[in-house]
Amino acid sequence: MTKFSDLNLNPKVLKAIDEAGYESPTPIQAGAIPPALEGKDVLGIAQTGTGKTASFTLPMITMLARGRARARMPRSLVLCPTRELAAQVAENFDTYSKHLKLTKALLIGGVSFKEQDKLIDKGVDVLIATPGRLLDHFERGKLLLTGVQIMVVDEADRMLDMGFIPDIERIFSLTPFTRQTLFFSATMAPEIERITNTFLSAPERVEVARQATTGENIEQGVVMFKGSRKDREPSEKRNVLRAVIDAEGEKCTNAIVFCNRKVDVDIVAKSLKKYGYDAAPIHGDLDQSQRTRTLDGFRDGTLRFLVASDVAARGLDVPSVSHVFNFDVPSHAEDYVHRIGRTGRAGRDGKAVMICVPRDEKNLADIERLVQREIPRIDNPLKGAAPVAEKPAKAEQTADEKPKRSRSRSRKTDEADIAQPETAAKPEPKSDPKPEEQPKRSRGRRGSGGGRQNDQSDRSGNKVVGLGDHTPEFIGLSFKERSAS
Ligand code: AMP
Repeated sequence: MTKFSDLNLNPKVLKAIDEAGYESPTPIQAGAIPPALEGKDVLGIAQTGTGKTASFTLPMITMLARGRARARMPRSLVLCPTRELAAQVAENFDTYSKHLKLTKALLIGGVSFKEQDKLIDKGVDVLIATPGRLLDHFERGKLLLTGVQIMVVDEADRMLDMGFIPDIERIFSLTPFTRQTLFFSATMAPEIERITNTFLSAPERVEVARQATTGENIEQGVVMFKGSRKDREPSEKRNVLRAVIDAEGEKCTNAIVFCNRKVDVDIVAKSLKKYGYDAAPIHGDLDQSQRTRTLDGFRDGTLRFLVASDVAARGLDVPSVSHVFNFDVPSHAEDYVHRIGRTGRAGRDGKAVMICVPRDEKNLADIERLVQREIPRIDNPLKGAAPVAEKPAKAEQTADEKPKRSRSRSRKTDEADIAQPETAAKPEPKSDPKPEEQPKRSRGRRGSGGGRQNDQSDRSGNKVVGLGDHTPEFIGLSFKERSAS
C-alpha cells in the first residue's frame, strides 16, 4: 500500500499530515499526487468524501514551497462552486501548510473586498475563489492572473449545474497557457468532457470508484404521495413531511431536510418553523455570518433541523445526524447516496425517509438502479386522513404558486434564485387546520389573489369575507385604460 512518505511531498507537509492523523493516502491522493508533483495536468473523477481536497492541496503546497509571490499576481488559483466549499479548501490549506510560510486570499461573497484586496496587493501564493467573485475583482483591475502557475477547478459538475462554465472558460483564458491544471469532477457530463478537452493538456486521468452503495446501518424508506390536486401538492407535501418527522418521535434528534430546488429550501424551512419545528435554511442568499451561525447552531445541537439543497450542503462538514429527510427525490441518483450518507456515520444507526410524488418516480427508479436495491415503501403517516393543504400563508407560496413575476428573478450567485424570505409567519399550533377550515380557492378568477383568502361562503356555512363569486365588472378593467381615457 502506498504511504505518504512515498509520494515526494515536502517534509513539512508530511509533518502536517501526520499531525492531522492521516495514516495513508486515499486512492485519489495516491493516484493524483504523483502526476501533479511531476507538473502534469490531472483530471480527477472523485466525489467529496474521497479525500480529493488533499489530493490537490498537498502537491500544490509542496510546489509552492519554492518561490515567492509577486504583488497582485497570485501563483495559484483554486476555483470552487460555493463559498462553503471555498472556505473548506482554505481551511485545508491552513492545516497542511502550517509549517510553511505561504499566503492565501479567499475571494467569496460575504468576505469584504477591501481586506482581500490588501492581501492580493501584497501578493499571495494561493487564491481561493468562487468564479463570479474572482471575475469581479479582476474587472476592478485589482488582480492579474498572468502569474498563475497552477489552477484547480473543484467540483466542475456543480459549476456546470450552477451555470458557471462560461466564467470558468473566461478564467482559463486569462491564465497563462503554460499553467498546470488540476481538474476535479464527480461526473463527466459531455460539457465537462468538452472543457477538459479544450483546456487540459494530456491529463493524467484518475478515477476513484463511485460510492454507489448505501450503508447497511441506514434504514431507508420512501413515502409515495400524490396531492389531492396539482396546485395543492406542494403544501400537502409539506404536511406529509411534518407527519413523517412526527412519526419518528424522539428518535429524531437532529436532521437534514433536503430539497431539490433552492426556492423550496426557504419555503420548507419557513413552513417547519411556522409549525413549531426548530428549523433553519442554508442557502446562498443568506449573508455569510447568518450561514455560519446556522451551521454552528446545527453542529452544536442548538438547531434541530437544517433545511438544505445539495449545493449548499455539499462538502459541508456536518456532524452525524439521526435522520435525513428527502423532501424531494434527488434528480441525480448519486446525490441520494450523498444525502443519506449524512446519517449513520461511524457505524451508528441512521434513518433516511424520502417523499416521492408521481412525477419523481423515474428518478426513484434511477436511484434504486444505482444502489441496486429497492427502497422500502412506507405508509404515509397521514393515510386515511383527508388531504390537508396548509393554510396558504403568504410566506409559504411555492414557486408553482407564485405569480410569474417573482420567479423571473435571475442573479448568478452560488445559490442564486432562492425566494427572499418574507415576514416570518406567526408560529401556529402543531395541529393542522381541518379541511373545512381551509380557505377555498376560486378557479382562475381575477381578484382572487392567486387563490388565497377567497370569498365564498363554504358548504359548511362558514362565513368567508370577500367579493364572492360575483366579481364586479370594474375589477376587470385595466387601470391604464382608465387613466388614458
Ligand atoms: P474531502 O473528500 O477532501 O472532502 O475529504 C473528506 C475528509 O477526509 C476530510 O475530513 C479530510 O480531512 C479527510 N481525509 C483526507 N485525506 C485523508 C487521509 N489520507 N486519511 C484520513 N482522512 C483523510
